[in-house]
Amino acid sequence: MSYEENVRRVIPYTPGEQPRGGNIIKLNTNENPYPPSPKAERAVRELDADILRLYPDFAASELVRTIASYHGVKEDQVFVGVGSDDVLAMAFLTFFNSDKPILFPDITYSFYDVWAQLWRIPYRTCPLDEAFFIRKEDYFCENGGIIFPNPNAPTGVWQPVSMIEDILQKNRDVTVIIDEAYIDFGGESCLSLLAKYENLLITRTFSKSRSMAGVRIGYAIGNKDMIQYLNHVKFSFNSYTMNVPSLCLGVASIEDDDYFVRMRDLVVAERERSKKELTGLGFSFPDSMANFIFARHKTMQASEIFKALKEKGIYVRYFSGPRVRDYLRITVGTREQMDALFAALKQILTEGSQGA
Ligand SMILES: *Cc1c(COP(=O)(O)O)cnc(C)c1O
Repeated sequence: MSYEENVRRVIPYTPGEQPRGGNIIKLNTNENPYPPSPKAERAVRELDADILRLYPDFAASELVRTIASYHGVKEDQVFVGVGSDDVLAMAFLTFFNSDKPILFPDITYSFYDVWAQLWRIPYRTCPLDEAFFIRKEDYFCENGGIIFPNPNAPTGVWQPVSMIEDILQKNRDVTVIIDEAYIDFGGESCLSLLAKYENLLITRTFSKSRSMAGVRIGYAIGNKDMIQYLNHVKFSFNSYTMNVPSLCLGVASIEDDDYFVRMRDLVVAERERSKKELTGLGFSFPDSMANFIFARHKTMQASEIFKALKEKGIYVRYFSGPRVRDYLRITVGTREQMDALFAALKQILTEGSQGA
């Protein structure tokens, strides 16, 4: 007998590399290339140090109020957490408690199966079609809950709200979570469905569109009972998850909507330009509504391009799974960063074709 027989063993999620240093171009974890709102930065610099001595407001009331008013929902419809990873982990624990499997796509955010394993939730994946679209009929069966991102990651594919409504209509008795980590970059949100479906939970994050991956804020919007269930679980686990500086940064970010819209639009414009450039270089990709492009090259292997880019100090993301190993997920950076990427790709592809 060993203590190890009673260890909760899990295979952890593997985050993208976080290389530090001067001369690298980091296009591998979907961060925003622009800084957060200068007003947010100023707000945190002006924080009264004495406030750090006290526990934070466990209900994060001001942040919750600000988010609720931004989305035009009630305060009791908003739950905040330490990044949407924290929100999603709590949501899995709270809502996915059936013996029937929860359902999510075979190609999706690779944290879902990790949480399912951690919390011992049975799950089944539903294959996306050849174009990486969800086949809604796959979700018209008995299940313990449903989750997927919209737009999906790492494909960038956005699915219309009407398709999600079809899934909700056939699944009134389980929780359906739509992970809208990337919705600010394109597509239409499912927020309009909240009034009609009490079992819908929508999650969002400050990490991508709000340039605050380092601050760790995510939130969920749902009906008030759902949010209360989430809060009961959260307060049974760790009440004080939201630290004082991040609460302050979060409020200031939402209040500076002009800045948010301007930076977001820059990323979207650069994404559209990048689609043309990548096509010209021989890449193809599903049309992305997110801040990344999931692209494959017509001749050169993704793993080779990945390595060659890394040698030049350009980091993109490569997943080696069965249906995705031909692809690179390229985060949209600044115009200068993307120009450097295209120049490097040009060189790599020319050398590659000469070597062959
Ligand atoms: C980035 C991401 C998240 C989590 O982001 P946080 O930084 O934890 O808020 C959740 N879902 C998807 C699909 C993501 O890409």
